[in-house]
Amino acid sequence: MTGFNTSSGFGRGFGVYLHWPYCARVCPYCDFNVYAAKARDTAPLFDAILKDLDGWRARSGERSVDTVFFGGGTPSLMTGSQVTQALEKIDMLWGIKSGAEVTLEANPDDHACFADFAAAGVNRLSLGVQSLDGAPLKFLGRTHSAADAIAAFRQTQGKFRSVSLDLIYALPGQTLDQWRAELARTLALGPDHLSLYELSIEPGAAFAKAVQRRDWAPMDDELCADLYELTQEMADKAGYPAYEISNHARGPAHESAHNRIYWASGDWAGVGPGAHGRLTIGDQRIATHAEDNPGAYLKQVDASGVGWAEDEMLNALAQARERVAMGLRVKEGLALRDISELGFQPDVSRIAEFESLGLLTHANGRIVLTVKGRLAADRIAAELAP
Ligand code: SF4
Repeated sequence: MTGFNTSSGFGRGFGVYLHWPYCARVCPYCDFNVYAAKARDTAPLFDAILKDLDGWRARSGERSVDTVFFGGGTPSLMTGSQVTQALEKIDMLWGIKSGAEVTLEANPDDHACFADFAAAGVNRLSLGVQSLDGAPLKFLGRTHSAADAIAAFRQTQGKFRSVSLDLIYALPGQTLDQWRAELARTLALGPDHLSLYELSIEPGAAFAKAVQRRDWAPMDDELCADLYELTQEMADKAGYPAYEISNHARGPAHESAHNRIYWASGDWAGVGPGAHGRLTIGDQRIATHAEDNPGAYLKQVDASGVGWAEDEMLNALAQARERVAMGLRVKEGLALRDISELGFQPDVSRIAEFESLGLLTHANGRIVLTVKGRLAADRIAAELAP
């Protein structure tokens, strides 16, 4: 890419992300900013999050909120009252649009709280099922059984307008037939949305050490690709086409509006330990990253009114890189004007090369990854926006 300019991400939606960093138990594959819940008093952290929201409002100016996302960690460990208070605060500060999507990520173990979350205003629940088989659940260090996950899913029915299930596949030793059977059982449950992720070995996670010790080896790339292709075929056939690399919805109304803001390079307030945010003001776009450690986060909010110590100004090149990386993920693909309005011209010969390899299609000013291309999305993005 060549060129230089800046442009506004304002108008691509505005969301609020609230990170709850505690989990009942830290899963061995997870490298998120999470801490064991133990018997903590979460009131000081919750107060700091409310204060962080005030700080964000002072910096963002007037907006109205398109989406709210309680993520983690395990935000289903929050109380219904905390979720209510957070939503009231967000509404008071900015105004939550009527009918806005409000998502909460939940562990199946916390099903007793689902009604409280719905009463608080959560209308989309994302359930961390991870597997519907006993052995993979054990391997993944989950505390629930497949029957618990199915029972929890049943508990969501009639309470939320959209329910998503998260599953992880491409586990070591998993066969095509095993995944086919598990995915068929998942599809038969009839959720509104599915997030289907391949297991990735993250450097900071316990699994990375297990691989280093040679306790087991990750699945090879070829079989991973076969499983991804099988996933696309089965999901398509069942009426859950992918609208993003790993996300499938039973119709556009059930796509994640909040994640759409990320993929469209919109703005969002990110509150809570380790939360990332993006804010466009005039022709400036900043990236924020709140302090990871809950203790440090509390101190930071106390000192400055927001959770982050330093923000990063994103120049036009950084913005263009984000737009390419995010835009390529969705089914509509990347609109080339999204980078040309930042002053960059796409490398047409590189695009043609990827097209000839069957990794993308290029028409009407958009590039769209093929199924094969989606498997190499990060590499393609890095090469198109070096
Ligand atoms: S995978 Fe989910 S439940 Fe497990 S430690 Fe990570 S955030 Fe917590």
